[in-house]
Amino acid sequence: ATQSEKPHVVLLPTPGMGHLIPLVEFAKRLIHEHDFSITVILPTDGPISESQKKFLNSLPSTMNYLLLPPVNFDDLPEDVKAETRISLTVTRSLPSFREVFMLLVETKKIVALVVDLFGTDTFDVAKEFNVSPYIFYPTTAMCLSLFLYLPTLDAAVSCEYGELKEPVRIPGCNPIEAKELLDPVQDRKNDAYKWLLHHTKRYKMAEGIVVNSFKELEPGAIKALHEEEPDKPPVYAVGPLIHMDVSSKAEELECLKWLDEQPCNSVLYISFGSGGTISHEQLIELAMGLEISDQRFLWVIRCPNDTIANATYFNVQSSSNPFDFLPQGFLERTKGQGLMVPNWAPQAQILSHGSTGGFLTHCGWNSTLESVVHGIPLIAWPLYAEQRMNVIMLNEGLKVALRPKTSENGVVKREEIAEVARGLMEGEEGKGVRSRMRDLKDAAAKVLSENGSSTKALAELASKMRKVL
Ligand code: UDP
Repeated sequence: ATQSEKPHVVLLPTPGMGHLIPLVEFAKRLIHEHDFSITVILPTDGPISESQKKFLNSLPSTMNYLLLPPVNFDDLPEDVKAETRISLTVTRSLPSFREVFMLLVETKKIVALVVDLFGTDTFDVAKEFNVSPYIFYPTTAMCLSLFLYLPTLDAAVSCEYGELKEPVRIPGCNPIEAKELLDPVQDRKNDAYKWLLHHTKRYKMAEGIVVNSFKELEPGAIKALHEEEPDKPPVYAVGPLIHMDVSSKAEELECLKWLDEQPCNSVLYISFGSGGTISHEQLIELAMGLEISDQRFLWVIRCPNDTIANATYFNVQSSSNPFDFLPQGFLERTKGQGLMVPNWAPQAQILSHGSTGGFLTHCGWNSTLESVVHGIPLIAWPLYAEQRMNVIMLNEGLKVALRPKTSENGVVKREEIAEVARGLMEGEEGKGVRSRMRDLKDAAAKVLSENGSSTKALAELASKMRKVL
């Protein structure tokens, strides 16, 4: 088919690299495996970050993207939560989104509008132009199951969830303490919770929900999601869809060159996703822990933040030099043992490199799936959003992650860090974790193969989308 005759899908990722990356990966599959064409429309609240720019510039030429004019946030308080800010970026972009969408409707055969977890306010525009709305859910089936259950839970419970005596029973999942649930659920009076509830109530408007997971990873949750119920759109488990980066910048290549010189499976990679930051005290403990562990390491280091754990979520750049916060003499002492990359690294390439043997991660879902695909065992260090839930699943459930103990003041001490690092890279415990991660890697390869469940789910979704033509 010619470009203008192909079924066209409009994607709207909400702010955050963790939303953009998997949504684009999903779009690539629709292009390559199902002959769709795609436009990505990005709402913004200012100039986009370097990492975003680089990512967008590397999109295939078959995928168009455009940036909506930045919304104004001068009225927002300093301490506004990420979920509120993300949702407002979308609602304040609706007039410009509508204009762009209208023009696309006139020139293309639009079969679907796909948004991620916080983009449901665009559904009204889709409905206005008779386009089917879909959700691409970029985190776990467990979290999606909670989202679909939240309106019911909200109606049944009047106190803060943290005051509940009983654990919360998310359909298809092991009971979980409320304090482990995602951040916006922790304070029902905060706008972040209100936004979350608002979106979850609108999930039923979607024609389908795509989840970046697969059965072997989350059997219970996926089974529950596949059960038909009123007001529950069909769920398509298409994961793991991960980013395969092809980077070009010299300073990024330097860390890959360094990896080339290290022995197979010997390097512990350390990164806290796009948003993760730790306190200065914690940064020093982490540095000292790595040093005394005697393990090789590659650390994506950011300036510390003593008050919030996702300080770089909206922009990873910083005016200070993160190296200034390291312990005295650290750089000299660890020369040869470790390498540090400031702010952002080509993670997809690092995790696929043969020298990488372990990953100390905040357990964001994209980072987790990237580790699964490459069979890299984890040290779990949750920081924000739904990461505590992910860690319970990875550590207690699947047993593919070790979890360091936090001391009373909330800091993980250097001795503990050194012990888990050694345990993962050299210890008996690490062997078990590694071998279970290899099994998941094989399962992931299988679901993505020609007759695999994720390939089939995507085909089913594509054929449903085409039906409106
Ligand atoms: N990422 C990267 N380099 C970095 C940090 C993150 O390429 O230095 C990528 C990472 O590979 C993943 C995404 O950014 O695809 C982060 O998503 P994740 O869900 O792990 O965490 P979030 O940033 O949403 O908390």
